[in-house]
Amino acid sequence: MASRVIPVDPFDLVIFGGTGDLAKRKILPALYRRFCAGQMPGDAKIIGAARSEHDAEEYRAFAHDAIQEFSDPQACSEAGLTAFLNRLDYVTIDARGEDGWAELADKLTERRVRAFYFSVGPGLFGDLAERIHSHGMVTDDTRIVVEKPFGHDLPTARELNKTLAAHFDEGQIYRIDHYLGKETVQNLMAVRFGNMLFEPLWNSQYVDHIQITVAETVGVGGRGEYYDKSGAMRDMVQNHLMQLLCLIAMEPPAKFDPDAVRDEKLKVIRALGEVLPHHIVRGQYEADPEGPQAHGSYRDAVGNPRSRTESYIALKTHIDNWRWAGTPFYLRTGKRLKARSSVINVMFKDTPHSIFGDEAGRHANVLSIRLQPNEGITLQVTIKEPGPGGMRLIDVPLDMTFSETLAPEDADFPDAYERLIMDVIRGNQTLFMRGDEVEAAWAWTDPIIAGWEARNDVPKPYDSGSAGPRDAELLIQRDKREWRGITP
Ligand code: NAP
Repeated sequence: MASRVIPVDPFDLVIFGGTGDLAKRKILPALYRRFCAGQMPGDAKIIGAARSEHDAEEYRAFAHDAIQEFSDPQACSEAGLTAFLNRLDYVTIDARGEDGWAELADKLTERRVRAFYFSVGPGLFGDLAERIHSHGMVTDDTRIVVEKPFGHDLPTARELNKTLAAHFDEGQIYRIDHYLGKETVQNLMAVRFGNMLFEPLWNSQYVDHIQITVAETVGVGGRGEYYDKSGAMRDMVQNHLMQLLCLIAMEPPAKFDPDAVRDEKLKVIRALGEVLPHHIVRGQYEADPEGPQAHGSYRDAVGNPRSRTESYIALKTHIDNWRWAGTPFYLRTGKRLKARSSVINVMFKDTPHSIFGDEAGRHANVLSIRLQPNEGITLQVTIKEPGPGGMRLIDVPLDMTFSETLAPEDADFPDAYERLIMDVIRGNQTLFMRGDEVEAAWAWTDPIIAGWEARNDVPKPYDSGSAGPRDAELLIQRDKREWRGITP
């Protein structure tokens, strides 16, 4: 059964930072694919805006190149590609100046959904919000989309929320965390709340612990200056891993509606326990001059030989509520690790008694929710090893890898940005972070960072292509547990 594409209403989308990396790699290709899929109406308008001088033709050429490089140009026919490019326009605007705003206002259509995508540094959010407002562009159907990083700590996040709230209602603000737009993340909710099988077991009585791993093989790349001020905790844990933890741990919302879901996520963040110093391991990757992706160390990459910023973090936390008391959550993320892999493992407890005897070994069920690559869900179950010769047990996966389980046309689902941008147009905030959620996440993160700063903690070096520092293994082994392997 092919998935149904429901077209969204006609819209105008303004991309501030329309010539930037994010627009080129993600936003324009995502819009193109939705256009080809028939979801974007033929009269939608996409207007790029940035300081550099371009006309509409030049911006179309920019988008054309972006699609060639970062999308499948064949997703549409040649005529389709041209039709998409004809939807594009461009205005030269400096967020901090007055020129160009009247021209932008003239290009917008009356009485239709209007979305302003802030694909610029957060230092410009206030300027943009203020000018959109002062130039009379805010209507009832106006939305703004803001990118991470949403603040550097609690005070800056509060300040940003205040700045945006001065001109927009919370219901108009879409804070993107692209992890939430992944098919598997929504499937996690479908699996949890759409089946009778899992929810009764979803608690500390049956779940031994939960592991959330987001491993990358890349280094800091061209983001060194930003990353060195941020580190893995701010760049990944405070937002992406925290969001995954919320969806795994939250209570069932009364309905699948934006505030019901976000209320439950917020309760999880507020119930997160203190993280003790010996439950945190920070690391920095070493140089690998000989490897296939020969590269320098983290400190080389950020140009700061004395940097104490972590490119890896593992930590153990817990949720102080009835459901999860006694179930640890182990989180880890890092760069230059052995494989690119984002996965949540729900590790169920061993059976209380083995009728097969000690020699059959320990066997426990594991539900693995893989976000990338190869999105899908696997349940590890124990069966008898086939063949004669007594009762030997083995673990096999019940595999729901989407690309194999679903028909090809259904497995070709939209990527996170496609889904999220369409949700903005539809006005559905379920997969976007609310202001209070972001603040609560920082309120948990800030004392952890302040703690290691006060202790002058120095990150542990780790080999590129490894699973991270040895201490991260010890962190979990002390509890007589093991990390699952990092595999592609
Ligand atoms: P980028 O490549 O540096 O692009 C910045 C864009 O903003 C350019 O189009 C730039 O064009 C425009 N701009 C800069 N100053 C401006 C001003 N005063 N007025 C109007 N436009 C201005 O940055 P990016 O990587 O696209 O990132 C954009 C935002 O998304 C950042 O907040 C970043 O943290 C976030 N983000 C990026 C990624 C990613 O994969 N790239 C992922 C997640 C989040 P002009 O110089 O011509 O003005």
